[in-house]
Amino acid sequence: MNPVFSTWQRELAEAFSSVDALCRHLQIDPQQLPLLHDYKQFPLRVPRSFVDCMGKGDINDPLLRQVLPLAAELEPQDGYGPDPVGDLAAVTETGVLHKYHGRILLIVTGGCAVHCRYCFRRDFPYGELQLSSGRVDEALAYIARHPAISEVILSGGDPLLMSDAKLRRLLDRLRGLRQVRRIRIHTRLPVVLPARVTAGLLQALSHHEIRPLVVLHANHAHELSEAVADACRRFRQHDISLLNQSVLLRGVNDDAAALMALSERLFAIGVLPYYLHSLDHAAGTGHFEVSDALGKQLIAYMQNHLPGYLVPRFVREQVGADHKLPLA
Ligand code: SF4
Repeated sequence: MNPVFSTWQRELAEAFSSVDALCRHLQIDPQQLPLLHDYKQFPLRVPRSFVDCMGKGDINDPLLRQVLPLAAELEPQDGYGPDPVGDLAAVTETGVLHKYHGRILLIVTGGCAVHCRYCFRRDFPYGELQLSSGRVDEALAYIARHPAISEVILSGGDPLLMSDAKLRRLLDRLRGLRQVRRIRIHTRLPVVLPARVTAGLLQALSHHEIRPLVVLHANHAHELSEAVADACRRFRQHDISLLNQSVLLRGVNDDAAALMALSERLFAIGVLPYYLHSLDHAAGTGHFEVSDALGKQLIAYMQNHLPGYLVPRFVREQVGADHKLPLA
């Protein structure tokens, strides 16, 4: 191991990448599971911090279900495909997706700390379309040619896989464009690998008056350990606001108790629930689908039992639509 690696990079390098090793660690017999045996195309990847939040011996653990490659991924599903939300048609420059008025999304990396089996970008051609350092000038020129753009969203992959220095350079260049008033970072890293929230990262985010809004991605209250709570506390100490988006997933959070516990836990650690997405129809993810009817019932139940600010907006991303479509 390279001695200059920081703690989070070391943990990332040591993430589980074998189903057998993961099952052994969790005291699960892999024979009990309908596994996908050849998962090289979208490999297993899950950091130890996230695995530590899973229950031992539980093949139905809601966190395990999110990362375990199952044979069901090979079942053909009508309406499921490699580009479920029309990303490719929205690419205007390498690494730039322009779908909605006033904001653009930058694909700043193709890597993630965890591989979520339901991921809507699991087949995204990152190799050709991610924003490499050599393409940043073109992305900035695109923004400058479109003065209506006032918000830039860093996405991927996971933007917090960038080094602190590289992230800071990109943020500072965006901050230098007078038209950019808001920057958002969509990330799952503080949830699955909270050691990523280092002093260097916090400095890169908060040294300028334009502080990015950090939108986390957690689907179940069990993901939000004390280490995650501590990472969120450090963001807030640096005046960084936190929202969360989730995906409604069969066998993970498709019941009212799980969704309410998630909202309550998010609030307890200083994060507001923002979106609950219906599943994007990416090839290989059909076994996670929850009907819209059930989703609406769950939201109605939450509305009857929680204050409005703890009920996420239940939405779907529709190809070609001008904004996300509210479902409830
Ligand atoms: S962290 Fe996000 S982009 Fe990465 S695999 Fe999970 S859902 Fe996909």
